[in-house]
Amino acid sequence: MTSIPGKACGSCVMCCTALEIPELKKPAGPPCPNCILSGGCTIYASRPQVCRDFECLWLTTRTLPPNMRPDRIGTILMEDDDTEEYRAVCAPGRPLAWRNPRVFAHLVAVAKTGRTVVAKAGLSSWRIFASGEFGPTV
Ligand code: SF4
Ligand code: SF4
Repeated sequence: MTSIPGKACGSCVMCCTALEIPELKKPAGPPCPNCILSGGCTIYASRPQVCRDFECLWLTTRTLPPNMRPDRIGTILMEDDDTEEYRAVCAPGRPLAWRNPRVFAHLVAVAKTGRTVVAKAGLSSWRIFASGEFGPTV
């Protein structure tokens, strides 16, 4: 994937915070020790390959507007390579961010394309359906 011209992470550090990064022995939730909370990475030039490779869907999807940047909605939109799920991974302090009407409408729209859409917050997760219904995953 390639990021879209005009889009940049800026002050967003959601993926350096909310996601588990096994290569760095970093659990989901706390910021990576190399993370500059105002935006950036203290080891940017030598950051691991997993960090170089990661791009959230906001960064790579032209139709996702500036107000859907992950730090602005409290949710990282991303693909899960193992399950092919379309995921909304919530910031640790904002477990219901996926219910934000703007985010939820987007997730329902994606579900209508036939994708499996899942919102995650810590150990909890919910499937979002094309009908607009949702429920916990089992
Ligand atoms: S979550 Fe997306 S926009 Fe935010 S820092 Fe990571 S790649 Fe950049
Ligand atoms: S090493 Fe840098 S890019 Fe990777 S998670 Fe930590 S702060 Fe983010």
